[in-house]
Amino acid sequence: MTDKYAVIGNPIDFSKSPFIHMSFASSTQQDIEYTKILGPLGGFKETVDQFRKAGGRGINITAPFKLDAFQYASKRSPAAELAGAANALSFAGDEVIAENFDGVGLVRDVVHNLKHQLKDKRVLLLGAGGAARGALLPFLYEAPELLVIANRTLSKAQELKRIAEKNQTQQNQVSALPFSALAGMQFDVIFNATSASLRNELPAISATVFGAESLAYELAYAKGLTPFLQLAKSSGVKHLADGVGMLAEQAAEAFSWWRGVRPDTSKVIRELTVPLN
Ligand code: NDP
Repeated sequence: MTDKYAVIGNPIDFSKSPFIHMSFASSTQQDIEYTKILGPLGGFKETVDQFRKAGGRGINITAPFKLDAFQYASKRSPAAELAGAANALSFAGDEVIAENFDGVGLVRDVVHNLKHQLKDKRVLLLGAGGAARGALLPFLYEAPELLVIANRTLSKAQELKRIAEKNQTQQNQVSALPFSALAGMQFDVIFNATSASLRNELPAISATVFGAESLAYELAYAKGLTPFLQLAKSSGVKHLADGVGMLAEQAAEAFSWWRGVRPDTSKVIRELTVPLN
């Protein structure tokens, strides 16, 4: 019997998840159906209840429902607990298990696909929202020399620093700074985990954060050269990336969690890549 999966969000038209999962299913010979669900605002629980009654086995969650999905679960992975949000649920009888694969997907893209190590590097994380929170522990596991979390609202960066210190397994140096304190500092890898690019805005950072050999990574995807990537490029950065690989890798994590087989992501990354120029 064909197993049913879906992605829920609002809006949802833009979602590439059905394309990605059906491509994984075809390459791994898995008999699944994967659809998009437009969740009514305030109606997450009823919509997912209905999907489960209809035989749904698992669901991906995108904005604005990641917190609702976390609440809906009966059991939560450490990654979901830390992020306070879920981007994948698995249904097994009455049990609903929550996961959050955004952070591991991001690290896998950087280390495995783009071949930029984070170990012993100076890493700058711009933003302290859901995506930054999800990336926190996977970053620390890579043991950077320094992790600076910078956010427009400093208190949120400071909260992430506290969480990092509580969960730290290695001796990493973690700092929380306002954007203004970044002037004069340089980093090996710079992540833009703010949502500024979705409105074509630039976080108020100094171009000194970039070195010619740095990797500038924009978590938003399919936006081309965002203001953040433009600043990196005009500062001489040669290594630019957007979040398409992160998207594919978090999907591959969910797929292997649900199906027990890990798909290759290179084909979907190639097909979804929008040139950065
Ligand atoms: P959230 O809404 O949870 O957080 C938004 C963050 O952006 C906050 O830190 C906020 O700062 C900051 N911010 C917003 N506007 C500006 C601005 N103009 N200047 C500076 N900072 C700003 O968003 P998410 O964490 O869910 O998403 C962040 C980004 O990551 C988005 O671009 C999203 O598309 C991308 N993403 C990509 C994924 C992928 O698979 N590639 C998966 C998930 C997210 P403040 O706290 O001060 O409000």
